[in-house]
Amino acid sequence: MSGDKVLFDQVSKTFDARTGRRTPGGAVTALDRLTLGVRPGEFLVVVGPSGCGKSTLLDLAGGLSRATAGQVLVNGRPVTGPGLDRGIVFQQYALLPWRTAAGNVAFGLEAKGVPRADRADLVAQHLDLVGLGAFAGHYPHQLSGGMKQRVAIARSLAYDPDILLMDEPFAALDAQTRDSLQDELVRIWERTGKTIIFITHAIDEAVYLGRRVAVMTSRPGRIKQVIDVELGDLDAAEDVRSSDAFRHHRHQIWTLLRDEVRAAQAAERPTLRRQEAPVG
Ligand code: ADP
Repeated sequence: MSGDKVLFDQVSKTFDARTGRRTPGGAVTALDRLTLGVRPGEFLVVVGPSGCGKSTLLDLAGGLSRATAGQVLVNGRPVTGPGLDRGIVFQQYALLPWRTAAGNVAFGLEAKGVPRADRADLVAQHLDLVGLGAFAGHYPHQLSGGMKQRVAIARSLAYDPDILLMDEPFAALDAQTRDSLQDELVRIWERTGKTIIFITHAIDEAVYLGRRVAVMTSRPGRIKQVIDVELGDLDAAEDVRSSDAFRHHRHQIWTLLRDEVRAAQAAERPTLRRQEAPVG
């Protein structure tokens, strides 16, 4: 579709099997002719069972690996490698331990060649954006998990990429920290208008964050269905997560995923039996 910010166009990705376990001596097909368009400025969440190819998908968009077939287009141009138009936030914070919070945020700016005089302002601005203005001089080991992930988000936003690629960035955090970071991310998205592709296996997170949620099939990954999440106008005091609309979408996605997990289990069963059967 033209006008997409990011387009996964019939993308396949095959890996050499780490072990011969899955298909004897064969390869692992992580993605199979997957097509998905992401609109400019949208918050799209990709949800799918573990191992279905979510990280593989994000790595392709980030230019960290190449598709075996098909292509990924950003602004209509094929992705050939990483670029400053795309910021990536991983599950693990990936901060430089020898740099302060400010130093870590400055890192991307240095890579982009932003003059030193402009850097300090941008760093302060983005630390403020994630609520860490007072922690500029702290080193990663002095920060909690949630704070480290805030620094990682500030670092990705500071050099002003069009697109933010987020690979389960809150998965390692406790529930409360995760909830507050989700709120912050929505606020940042509303304020900055970035296009966000957010990967998760958590259904609640998908419904809460995604304005559209793409549900993947089990491996080999394809898009099973894309759901428009409409939570309606909620009273600020109301708990969004216990609204009827939220419950409806949660159930919708849960049902789609349950069918995928069942299908995957059924596909694994003959393999297990073969492996368990006595030799000879
Ligand atoms: P998800 O993020 O949905 O959990 P991944 O994208 O990490 O799934 O992996 C999809 C499939 O591809 C899995 O079966 C995984 O084992 C396989 N895979 C991922 N990366 C590699 C790799 N570098 N080498 C071999 N197999 C891989």
